Amino acid sequence: MTATIAELLGGVPTELHIGGKDVPSADGARFDVVDPANGEVIASVADGSVVDALAAVDAAAVAAADWAATAPRHRAEVLRVAFEAMTDEADDYAHLISLENGKALADARGEVAYAAEFFRWYGEEAVRLAGSLAVAPSGTNRIMVMHQPVGVCVLVTPWNFPAAMATRKIGPALAAGCTVVLKPASDTPLTALAMARTLESAGVPPGVVNVLPARRSGAVVSAMLHDPRVRKLSFTGSTEVGRVLLREAADRVLNTSMELGGNAPFLVLADADLDEAVEGAMVAKMRNGGEACTAANRFYVHASIADDFGRRLADRMAGLTLGPGTDPQTRIGPLINADAVDKVDSLVRDAIDRGAHCLTGARRPERPGCYYEPTVLAGVPEDSVILREEIFGPVAPIVTFDDEDVAIELANATEFGLVAYVYTRDLARGLRVSERLESGMVGLNRGVVSDPAAPFGGVKQSGIGREGGHEGVLDYTESKYVAVQW
Ligand code: NAD
Repeated sequence: MTATIAELLGGVPTELHIGGKDVPSADGARFDVVDPANGEVIASVADGSVVDALAAVDAAAVAAADWAATAPRHRAEVLRVAFEAMTDEADDYAHLISLENGKALADARGEVAYAAEFFRWYGEEAVRLAGSLAVAPSGTNRIMVMHQPVGVCVLVTPWNFPAAMATRKIGPALAAGCTVVLKPASDTPLTALAMARTLESAGVPPGVVNVLPARRSGAVVSAMLHDPRVRKLSFTGSTEVGRVLLREAADRVLNTSMELGGNAPFLVLADADLDEAVEGAMVAKMRNGGEACTAANRFYVHASIADDFGRRLADRMAGLTLGPGTDPQTRIGPLINADAVDKVDSLVRDAIDRGAHCLTGARRPERPGCYYEPTVLAGVPEDSVILREEIFGPVAPIVTFDDEDVAIELANATEFGLVAYVYTRDLARGLRVSERLESGMVGLNRGVVSDPAAPFGGVKQSGIGREGGHEGVLDYTESKYVAVQW
């Protein structure tokens, strides 16, 4: 890092960003951003109101026609410059993310690289938005299809990936020619505000990207969704809030993209390479300290290898160094807040009360801050709450199975369907199992699936639509069909 933490924070904007300007909220309200490693206030940020939200929609609506009319090559170049700027500032971004979110620096650096890549990928996609032309089956005319920008988009993002969840929306929206109002999570607004500045230095015109931190999220988002100039909602967050926003969006039949919660099963079949499976489990479970929608939530391991797998995983988990995210020695930082620690602990207690064995962890360490020890639970009974709810913490519950069909049935027995993981040495078997898993994504002998070039998203109550890949930009367009006769 080139700047000290104080210098870093001194340079981060803390006002609302509307129409290219940093402005206080209309009613002067502010809220504190806290470092979860020690509870200290690191910044006071303007708290957007309904009045500000409508001003931000105004700015996005005013900028919309000009931005949509820019040459795709121009939008591509601007996104490319934003990618380079974010990459150049990667260290500062990583420290800022560690500070406000708590994640270990290594995770924060990984996030910044992943986040910036959405600007590069969608810069490349901006010039590849081809339509199609076909002869109608009757032969009387042509069917021409073009993809037009959907218009003003409201983007709502969670705290667990403050940079990447924003760029995964802003990149394709800008590439398609849309303008946006981003409402970041109130635990982590600083990264989003810094990003608005990076984007405008890269050449994004005022009003194209507006950032509206707001603790009064319900009222603020609702006002925007009911404004007739808004055409799309893209939300990443919990399924619970997603359901509320889908109802709100229904009032104006808005175009919606929903990236919601997960409950990922991690299947280790009898013939799996155990070293690979444990390595993959560490990544799938512990990336971001367990605070990822893609985090492995339930481990189904064949009975013949379950003891070995559990022991090895517990050894690896117990070896992780806990500490403030900004300390380079740290491998696992604090959870986002005290409520998160209470929730994780209550899930662990419930499983142990029902008969699970603790192989490591299962307690809060004796240090201030929102920490929880990396935990592995074996023999977790099927009725444990931890197998049904998103853990969002460093806990790996293991269930054993004898029959592959039963394992698949258990893996699918959830309302979620974001991602699943399978480990086996038999690729054909792995593909057969992958086809039967009810999820939008599968990691086959791989503990990480996220890739800007791939369509990320869930089935069932894990979401609607895809972010990443070519599909990601199509989600910010409407197809227009022209019946042509010549
Ligand atoms: P959350 O649903 O509590 O909040 C997400 C965002 O919605 C925040 O900006 C929050 O301020 C806002 N919000 C909350 N209530 C609202 C309301 N009534 N109206 C409008 N906006 C409201 O989620 P979180 O705790 O920030 O994030 C964790 C969740 O996000 C987990 O469930 C995780 O699985 C999910 N997630 C999903 C993906 C994915 O791609 N599928 C990625 C990351 C996180």
